[in-house]
Amino acid sequence: MNAVARASIAAIDQEDRRRQTRRLDSRQTPHQRINGHERLAFCSNDYLGLAADPRIAQAAMAAAATYGVGAGAAHLINGHHAEHEALETELAQATRREAALLFSTGYMANIGVLQTLSDRHTVVFEDRLNHASLIDAARIQRASTQRYDHGDAHHLAARLTARAPRRRRHERWIIVTDGVFSMDGDIAPLPALVELAQRFDAWLVVDDAHGFGVLGHHGGGTLDSLQLCAAQVPVLIATLGKALGTAGAFIAGDKTLIEWIRQRARTYIYTTAQPPLIAAATRAALAIMRDEPQRRASLQRHIAKFTQAIDRTDLERMPSSTPIQPIKVPGGHDADAVAWAQRLDDLGLLVPAIRSPTVPSGQSRLRVTLSAAHTDADIEHLIDALLATSPQART
Ligand SMILES: *Cc1c(COP(=O)(O)O)cnc(C)c1O
Repeated sequence: MNAVARASIAAIDQEDRRRQTRRLDSRQTPHQRINGHERLAFCSNDYLGLAADPRIAQAAMAAAATYGVGAGAAHLINGHHAEHEALETELAQATRREAALLFSTGYMANIGVLQTLSDRHTVVFEDRLNHASLIDAARIQRASTQRYDHGDAHHLAARLTARAPRRRRHERWIIVTDGVFSMDGDIAPLPALVELAQRFDAWLVVDDAHGFGVLGHHGGGTLDSLQLCAAQVPVLIATLGKALGTAGAFIAGDKTLIEWIRQRARTYIYTTAQPPLIAAATRAALAIMRDEPQRRASLQRHIAKFTQAIDRTDLERMPSSTPIQPIKVPGGHDADAVAWAQRLDDLGLLVPAIRSPTVPSGQSRLRVTLSAAHTDADIEHLIDALLATSPQART
């Protein structure tokens, strides 16, 4: 086996695609220690600055003292603790839906949702840039998949129209999209997708991993910000390891939908429930998300400051209004992206280079993510450093 493994790793090296693990030696805050060195990081998904919030840690410790650590069993055996149940109720309220179901990770939630919703005659329509877990979910189901161009409702309409004459009588159609796209930071054209789902009798599934907590008046997410309800988007998935700063994921929707998923999703049934202390921590995070809108306000201020400053320079950013702010690398070559990230690293800034296969070849970029935990000075430092190290500055 080792010979095969070595050959496979050599192939990765050949393509210059080997990834290195960075060891975080401190809390997940913007100023952190990585591999023993101080860094100012612009790459976490901790958009509200909650990952290291002491109140959330306190809630986790109190729950550990009360319940211990392990859930001890799957939800449908006897691992479903009171904390899980209370959290599900609060998540349903936060997304203004009838019910919610907790999963241990977003990846598992996506596999479970598509497994429940698809049958042998299902066609899944996916945005080309959907998160890997949504692509894998359709693949695992062996559902027939149609990809449409990123964010392009016209292209989706064309796909649906072309397929319609061949649609069998009980053939289910499911349209699946990220709410906020993880590598581009832009938002799906949801009102147009809702209209297409209604016109073509398809189910609409939105994965709002990067919108929940960040967008909407109370952090309810992308659907909340666009005032789309459960009748328009029946299946909402969101994760808890990003803006909420803890771990896990949930699906929210009508009671009947949630009960269906609870009974069918293998990634819900055949896995140990997340530790109840995580549910308790998430409840504390949800309360902060609701009661401290100033965190969203700080984040929006940072986004405005960053985008306005970049737009006054030669640097090219992608059209995003969210905390995910990709900066294009001229020419889009992997090696140039990596070299730029290295120059930033030399200045003490952690801004990851994103290259293929995570993004299409020739579209390598730096991916900046902003957090409410950054200070104004951090944002200014980032802008100065990007300008000082950009390929443009060097020619
Ligand atoms: C991060 C992410 C996931 C996976 O969630 P985890 O809880 O980290 O497994 C799923 N979908 C999207 C869009 C994501 O960004």
